[in-house]
Amino acid sequence: MPAVAAKLLAWYDACGRELPWRVRGGPADPYRVWLSEVMLQQTTVAAVAPYFAAFTKRWPSVAALAAADEAEVMAAWAGLGYYSRARNLHACARAVAESGFPADEAALRQLPGIGAYTAAAIAAIAFGAKAAPVDANIERVVARLFAIDAPLPGARRAIAAAAATLTPETRAGDFAQGLMDLGRAICTPRAPKCLACPLRENCAGFAQGSAADLPRKAERPPRPERYGTAFVARRADGAVLLRRRPPRGLLGGMDEVPSTEWGAKGAPATPPWPGDWQAAGSIMHTFTHFRLHLAVARAEMAAPAPDGMRWVGADALAEQALPTVMRKVLAAAAL
Ligand code: SF4
Repeated sequence: MPAVAAKLLAWYDACGRELPWRVRGGPADPYRVWLSEVMLQQTTVAAVAPYFAAFTKRWPSVAALAAADEAEVMAAWAGLGYYSRARNLHACARAVAESGFPADEAALRQLPGIGAYTAAAIAAIAFGAKAAPVDANIERVVARLFAIDAPLPGARRAIAAAAATLTPETRAGDFAQGLMDLGRAICTPRAPKCLACPLRENCAGFAQGSAADLPRKAERPPRPERYGTAFVARRADGAVLLRRRPPRGLLGGMDEVPSTEWGAKGAPATPPWPGDWQAAGSIMHTFTHFRLHLAVARAEMAAPAPDGMRWVGADALAEQALPTVMRKVLAAAAL
């Protein structure tokens, strides 16, 4: 459908969004494209923008990022979530620091943390390759344009194949970014603004009157609930005891206060050491695969830090690699 590409590119030129990592009418810096795409995985533009600004100011090139300590990168990433992305980001920076990013989609996919979507996005946006990245916005637009009514996630392959048929020979990066913008501004999840859409005449979903119901989604099982207790030990000068989580797995390499196992409701809340532990409320945090309910206990403590832990002064807490769930815990303990 070459008409779709021409109409969409004209709309993008007139109405596309200005974003800090976006370049109009010239080649984009692969470093900035890669960094923004990794940050945007599972995260909104509004949440990413200040992190993108901070990272590019502190590490203006991939070589600068590669030269940083992993712990520094993890701390700068704190709050953005999905922390394996930060570890992979650093590993990827080290892998390409000397030779630069490859332009080829298949070679990009070999790099840490770069999956099918990110490889296609970098290839198209930074290198102008005819690649068709499919994010959630593009998935929705394409499912509607082609009236693909098989449910997700099974329909992903058909949607990707359909998206590839739309991609133009030139300006594939602008085309992909135009589809993203259209999905965000016009072809919205619940009430698509079809009357304002440049692709209306080409849209099978609109013609069938089924657009708002697409893409269909297979029913998800309910998210499991997990429970635990977090223990905040505080010294008289305001310092807090923190430890680092193991490098792999959930929140790998991030900092935390000690807590019980996160498991079934009603497990005993045994503190890591004796003390005058006081209840300090509770917090709830939603991870991709479960929802966590943590009771928070706090106690004053004067002893040296136990093995594997460290005292962190109150004024240094902001620079620690504390994930959002732990910042909620510290807030509940009023630190
Ligand atoms: Fe989406 Fe409607 Fe445009 Fe089709 S016509 S692409 S459903 S906004």
